[in-house]
Amino acid sequence: MAASGVPIQPRDQLGRYMLPQAPEDAGYYVYGNVGGVPGTGHLAQYAHPNMLSVIFWVEREWQAIDDRKFGIGNISVANGLKYDHHTHMKGIEMDIRPVRKDKMVGHAARCSYMDTAVYDREATIKLVRLFLQHPMVRLIYFNDEKVQQATGGRVKYWPDHNDHLHIEIWERP
Ligand SMILES: [Zn+2]
Repeated sequence: MAASGVPIQPRDQLGRYMLPQAPEDAGYYVYGNVGGVPGTGHLAQYAHPNMLSVIFWVEREWQAIDDRKFGIGNISVANGLKYDHHTHMKGIEMDIRPVRKDKMVGHAARCSYMDTAVYDREATIKLVRLFLQHPMVRLIYFNDEKVQQATGGRVKYWPDHNDHLHIEIWERP
C-alpha cells in the first residue's frame, strides 16, 4: 500500500495494468487461473488502460441497476505473452461470466447459458447492453441465441463460449 492508502497496481513492460483484484465495493469479482493452477487468476488479468476504462464504467452502471457482482476471468498475462489462448495477448480481450440468479462469486460460480436453474438471461442481457453501449467495445462472443437476438446481432457465436462471454475492444479507438 502507498502512503495514501491507494494500492499500487502492478504494471507490465507494455503499459498494461493488473485489474484491481475486486475490492469489496466493486461491481465485479475475479476468477480464473493460468495453466489450471489455483490462485493464479490475477496473473492473467493485465489490461490495456482502455479496457480498464470500459470495466470501470460498466461496473458503475451495473451497480446502479443490480446488486450482484459479475465475474471477470482471463484478460492477458504480462508482457504480451501467449498462454492458453490464441488471443488475449494485448490486454484488449476479456472473458466474463454470464450473470447467475444467485449471488455466488468466486472460482466455483461458473455458469453456462444451459444451466437454466442458475443462469439469469435477463440480467445477462442487461450487462451485455451496458458493454455494447461503450464506444470502445468492438465485439462479444457468447452462444446464447436469445442474447444474440436481444442485442441486434452484435453478440456472435464462437465455439466453447457457453459459460463465458468474450469481450473485445478496439485496439485503436
Ligand atoms: Zn476470451
